[in-house]
Amino acid sequence: MADLIIRGGRVVDPLNHVDRVCDIAVEDGKVAEIGEELPEAGAREVFDARGKIVIPGVIDMHTHQRTQLGHPHAQRMTALAGTCTALDMAGPLDDILDSIPGSGSGINVAVLEAAREGYTIKTGRPGKEERAALIDRTLEHGGLGIKLLGGHFPMDTDICSDFISECAERGAWVAWHVGNTLHGSNIEGFRDAIDAADGKFLHIAHVNSYCRGQVVKGDGGVREALEAIERLKAHPNIFSESYLSDLNGTRLTIGPDGKPASHVTSTCLQKVGCTPDRAGMEKAILEGRVGVLVDNGTIGVLASGEKALEYWREKGTVTTGSFSVNPAPSRFLLAQAKRDDGSFVVDSFSTDGGTYPRNVIVRNGMHLVHFGALTLEEFVLKASVNGAKALGLPSKGQLGVGADADVTVIDYDRCEPYGTIVGGRVIMKDGALLGSGTTIVCDARGEAYLKGRGIRCLVKKPLDPADVPKRVSAKSL
Ligand SMILES: [Zn+2]
Repeated sequence: MADLIIRGGRVVDPLNHVDRVCDIAVEDGKVAEIGEELPEAGAREVFDARGKIVIPGVIDMHTHQRTQLGHPHAQRMTALAGTCTALDMAGPLDDILDSIPGSGSGINVAVLEAAREGYTIKTGRPGKEERAALIDRTLEHGGLGIKLLGGHFPMDTDICSDFISECAERGAWVAWHVGNTLHGSNIEGFRDAIDAADGKFLHIAHVNSYCRGQVVKGDGGVREALEAIERLKAHPNIFSESYLSDLNGTRLTIGPDGKPASHVTSTCLQKVGCTPDRAGMEKAILEGRVGVLVDNGTIGVLASGEKALEYWREKGTVTTGSFSVNPAPSRFLLAQAKRDDGSFVVDSFSTDGGTYPRNVIVRNGMHLVHFGALTLEEFVLKASVNGAKALGLPSKGQLGVGADADVTVIDYDRCEPYGTIVGGRVIMKDGALLGSGTTIVCDARGEAYLKGRGIRCLVKKPLDPADVPKRVSAKSL
């Protein structure tokens, strides 16, 4: 007897060659049957998906689920966006595990711990033992690996290179927001990161943010995106994602010298026609040229105008927010670029969201489908299949019998998520949040620790670097 029937949606499941209107029956959190007119008798719940698109649950390969960034609602925002599984790209692991009772929304979360000077490592040049201890501790406490923070806390490339090798030896994930002590978080830092990986597994974070036309100016990041695409084609050992929002995320704090504490923020202020100082920031907030991230009680939203300015002052300016700085041309190129075999050059969609309200994989992804840049099948590959494969979760990314009942239901005409179902539980329907708790996607080495804490977990397959270059394409299916 089914626990849940998902009724009458157009099911698009490329791995199982399904693209037709049908029902899905769910039992014990798994897909039990797919077919037409499945009986409702005895089913605990029926989800009416008629007129909607039903796909394997969206997997967002770059989010932030931490609770100390203006509000604690990232998990809710992730569920509202139609995302079932999210890779958190910086932790802190402890903060996320501690937040589950209060902030859990029913999603699955995998966590990378940031290698951050003064927090998880003592200095910017940790020795071999300290690096190894950070990786081992992370895996044993339920994390998947390490994030290198080139953007705000750059390290020397030799240290990054050592981290990549040591993660490879331990089967740990390693991601890099590129940038190092010589080059910034741009296309130059991107080149260095590929060289530093030297053929080993590396996840390069949000490729679009290195293609904003910062180094090669004047064309909306087009030449930088084309270079990034060529380099990724030539280095299949690199896993990558890019996001679809125009918004960035940055600190709005003004330092004691009256200037923005973040260099990124100074550049953004000038870009939107304001001076890089306190007066410029006030003008930007008042006129809506920047959004201040505030807690509306349920989710985090971007605010501007008088009230936002008041909030920013109350906080002593220690806030974060977003400017519209990601050029559309490079975002578009990275979203649809393919290799000769038809697989995507940039493996997955991501948001760099969670906390920041730019969780638009479904919204902007559907715009790309409407535009004709992607087929629905291709959207599913990039929004779900590739992430499931990379994370070692073969029971996700597909809706065959026995697969996890992780499902995203999409209102195609409105380009909005309509339902989020995780493990057969409806955690979001038509904008209403219905879930709680969190399942942590972990390495086998972290299972005992999480269970000891009473945290639900899902053990992933070990990372196999030889598997990374074997990409799925619509052509090969
Ligand atoms: Zn990020």
